[in-house]
Amino acid sequence: MKLILLGAPGAGKGTQAARLMQKYNIPQLSTGDMLRAAAVAQTPVGLEAKAIIDAGRLVSDDIVVGIVAARIQQPDAARGFILDGFPRTINQAKALDAMLADAHMDLDAVIELKVDEAALLSRIAQRVKQTEAAGKPGRADDNPEAFKTRLEAYQTLTAPVSAYYAKTGRLAVIDGMASVDAVTEGLDKVLSRIVKA
Ligand code: AMP
Repeated sequence: MKLILLGAPGAGKGTQAARLMQKYNIPQLSTGDMLRAAAVAQTPVGLEAKAIIDAGRLVSDDIVVGIVAARIQQPDAARGFILDGFPRTINQAKALDAMLADAHMDLDAVIELKVDEAALLSRIAQRVKQTEAAGKPGRADDNPEAFKTRLEAYQTLTAPVSAYYAKTGRLAVIDGMASVDAVTEGLDKVLSRIVKA
């Protein structure tokens, strides 16, 4: 199963992707995780991306498209994958269409988790508190200023990606305001139609 999870930062993509990964035994391809790992490893891409990520801005399309193109060719992605955090611009969506066509792969579903802005802000505030309480180092881009930039990038550049998939009838929208379990149920419902098809 080849799946895209769309949604604003804090919409619950990562949480749901982790559940889907277990259920369908396919990898979660999070461009955010890949970029953070590259930054820690201090690769040229990671070094270039780090300041941009920390400020909450989007890394260039060329960099992320290159990362995803390499990642979907790994053997574990042959059976399927969950794209989490990609595509985030129309250009990335077009590049993904081209790379999937080249690889003779088809997308099975594009699912957007819809959450309103007030809820996103309170979820991120909660994530910061929980991380602090656990004594873990938090994400540099989970501070109010960077989060505002991330939301703006989402609204300006990523929200149109949903319309891009809706135009070709590939988009399903799920209410991401519901409980984590209810969202999982919503995803199961959409995906069970696809698995059976
Ligand atoms: P995430 O973990 O998905 O919230 O991503 C964290 C950060 O990584 C984003 O705020 C961007 O700076 C960068 N990033 C992740 N995915 C992409 C993408 N598809 N395009 C551009 N930048 C990205």
